[in-house]
Amino acid sequence: MAALRLEVQKLKNYINGKWLDVKESQAVINPATGMEIVQVPLSAAGAVNTAVKAAKKAQKEWALIPAPQRAEVLYRIGYLMKERKERLAQFLTMENGKVIEEARGEVQEGIDMAFYMAGEGRRLFGQTTPTELKDKFAMTQRSPVGVVGIITPWNFPIAIATWKSFPAIVAGNAVIWKPATETPIMAYELAKIAEEAGLPDGILNVVFGAGSVIGDAMVHHEDIRVISFTGSNDTGRNIASACGKQLKKVSLEMGGKNAVIVMDDADLDLATEGIIWSAFGTSGQRCTACSRVIVHEKVKQALEERLLAAMQHLSIGNGLDESIKIGPIINQSGLDKIKKYIEIGKDEGANLLAGGYELTKEHQKGYYFTPTLFTDVSADMRIAQEEIFGPVVSIISVKSLEEAVEVNNGVTYGLSSSIFTNDVGRVFKAQRDLDTGIVYVNAGTTGAEIHLPFGGTKGTGNGHRDSGVQALDVFTEWKAIYVDYSGKLQRAQIDVES
Ligand code: NAP
Repeated sequence: MAALRLEVQKLKNYINGKWLDVKESQAVINPATGMEIVQVPLSAAGAVNTAVKAAKKAQKEWALIPAPQRAEVLYRIGYLMKERKERLAQFLTMENGKVIEEARGEVQEGIDMAFYMAGEGRRLFGQTTPTELKDKFAMTQRSPVGVVGIITPWNFPIAIATWKSFPAIVAGNAVIWKPATETPIMAYELAKIAEEAGLPDGILNVVFGAGSVIGDAMVHHEDIRVISFTGSNDTGRNIASACGKQLKKVSLEMGGKNAVIVMDDADLDLATEGIIWSAFGTSGQRCTACSRVIVHEKVKQALEERLLAAMQHLSIGNGLDESIKIGPIINQSGLDKIKKYIEIGKDEGANLLAGGYELTKEHQKGYYFTPTLFTDVSADMRIAQEEIFGPVVSIISVKSLEEAVEVNNGVTYGLSSSIFTNDVGRVFKAQRDLDTGIVYVNAGTTGAEIHLPFGGTKGTGNGHRDSGVQALDVFTEWKAIYVDYSGKLQRAQIDVES
């Protein structure tokens, strides 16, 4: 397990095609080992001004380049990402902790997004439509908004950035990207790839630094016309309110409290696999992670037995080791939050079936927590309502599909849900009634495909979607164009002959 080493000891901002040194910095820690990997710059707010100035200038020219030519650069980015997939995956595991198999999957998502959005360069469809008047033509087209700001979290440091930046770029915008301070290496690597792929200077700018400084400066910069944010609910709400005051477009993807429903006719072995993968993959630190299992009372015990047996095989450790299934928690404060919820669950009267403790002896320097199962949880307990963001699952027993749907929908979030059943009627009722942006049937709650819209209802978002063609709506304005070739002034609604 010889870990790769970065060729630099300190990262630099990438602004207007130049690598700029920043005086202040802080260590990026590998959560599996507690060792420093690199220093990340802590830029001052002025760096945002510099980046926006460059982006504004570059965007004007970029928007005039035909979209299929803009897309050529994305194809090149995709090929370079593909060539470097293993390098990217290894650094991703080192900075984020997720196991190497999942890191490869995340990088693949970014590659897929590059090719998918490059294809959009030949579509970016608008509509033509009949008009009310003779000798008149009407159509719609997408226009870029200008300079866009993207703010991304540490748990998917490359995939989420590609969901946002690639549609923005192909649509003719320039991007200012503030990556999470915990996971800056993916941003550094992607900026290098964009540079090598020939993306013009100023179209992708990476500004490293604290959210409260750089993120805040982006949110308040009048020349950044869109903020696309993924992260926690609290930060998202503050950003939304600041953007609201400025009438700035804002797209938010936030937390989840996702559930797997297991009905009494389900294939319990398949359900067990789905739950284990979506609850404990990435140590439960996915926005789509399963943190509730809503099970029909008739199969509760049988499911619990299977889950406990499967949990015995979950090896915990450094994700660079191919045999490891569960990596570390991102940092000490993530670990503290999980520990706090274990105590809350016990105090609320939930029954701790497995796990519930930090691993301190075998894994002294990293941040590790055991996969944890609570049962006899009631739907209103805090552990069944609040996002824990760790490998902790609450089992809630129900008597019917209707009750299962009610429990699923009875949280403030609405990202992903899943149902295991072999009854086609239940499948269709569930997909109709589950109040989440993503619904899975006979699979866990995780694993989005990039050509479908990604996002959630209620407290998870504000109605926008990442990825899919729907992402283009965030980064474009619809323009309605009327061409009157009648040679006279025709007044809509007035000069219509009836
Ligand atoms: P976070 O603390 O909200 O941070 C997310 C990003 O926002 C980071 O880059 C952070 O910068 C920045 N930020 C912090 N304060 C800011 C401010 N005042 N103004 C502007 N930006 C600011 O969230 P997190 O803990 O990293 O991420 C975990 C959360 O993300 C979970 O709730 C998870 O469910 C959610 N998530 C949602 C989705 C989805 O698509 N729905 C996907 C993945 C994750 P720093 O680097 O300085 O912290």
